[in-house]
Amino acid sequence: MLKPIPHLLKALTVCFITIGLVACNSDSEETIIEEDSIVVDDSSSDSDTTTETIVEVDPFNFESGALVSSITTETCTLSNGDEASCYRIDIAGAPSNYEISSFCPKNITSTADEAGIWFDGSGEVYDITGDFILSLPTLYNDSNWKLYDESTGLVNITDTEESCEGAARPDVEEQYQNHCVECSIDYVNGGISASFLIPITPIAAAQTINVGRVNIGLALNGVELAAPAPVDAILSAYTIAAFDDCAGHINLNEGYHYHGEAGCSQTQIQSDGHSAMMGYALDGYGIFGMLDDTNTEPTDLDSCRGHTDETRGYHYHAASVSENMFIGCFRGEIALTEDETGPR
Ligand SMILES: [Zn+2]
Ligand SMILES: [Zn+2]
Repeated sequence: MLKPIPHLLKALTVCFITIGLVACNSDSEETIIEEDSIVVDDSSSDSDTTTETIVEVDPFNFESGALVSSITTETCTLSNGDEASCYRIDIAGAPSNYEISSFCPKNITSTADEAGIWFDGSGEVYDITGDFILSLPTLYNDSNWKLYDESTGLVNITDTEESCEGAARPDVEEQYQNHCVECSIDYVNGGISASFLIPITPIAAAQTINVGRVNIGLALNGVELAAPAPVDAILSAYTIAAFDDCAGHINLNEGYHYHGEAGCSQTQIQSDGHSAMMGYALDGYGIFGMLDDTNTEPTDLDSCRGHTDETRGYHYHAASVSENMFIGCFRGEIALTEDETGPR
């Protein structure tokens, strides 16, 4: 007579390893075991794991000429109170990869290639042509708009440092109302350097952090990614704070800065067809262009406009240039500034 041999039956048990679960079936029993309750030696197998890829900030992603000093490391305090290692990154405040081009059109016959763009968060990008200047009373449904001289056809432009200062601020002086606002990079000596403190290793926050009115981060070509432009204040003074074709413009406090992602800073091409990288958010996560090689926007973005893949870990895709924003919120902890880490 043959007797069943328990050890042999056990050895013949067939195991299926799936994500997060190990399911074992034999003729006599079925067990499902949570993965974290067992130790699996999978050194010789390629079974799935749920490890999330975490990508550190890479100083070598910045363009040559984008920074005014070497990147250094220092201890920083994050928004959750934890201490962490941060990079101190000092950007030049001017694009390292192109010359800043025109903002306002000179007259009411100017064409699209003679001036920049305007967007007001309404979902549209406008070329600031002469026709656009003429259309303002209709566009904003207000007959007080008149950005040009009727006798000459010349557009009212803030063409001195004094008028730039008077118009490129929230409380626009009356004499600068009905102006197309532009400031020369020469007024800020070629750019205003800005210092950023960014966690070297991004840390997901327990709750997303509002972008609010703080800057969003920095572009790889040395330009600040600014908070949304204060469109209501700009329009209520009958001004257009013209952007160049790269969605940047200049004021005397911040120098040249971006309010949208128009492709000019997408310098890190990705070999797998993914959108190119254009900068870092303050939380250390990378920001990439909106569209990939096939002009497709990812469909799985969260409310911060981020998602995760194995190559890049968690990362953002910039909003369309018309939206007056880059990302929806910070997914990760941001470093507190010197002011915020003082006595509480
Ligand atoms: Zn601005
Ligand atoms: Zn992506």
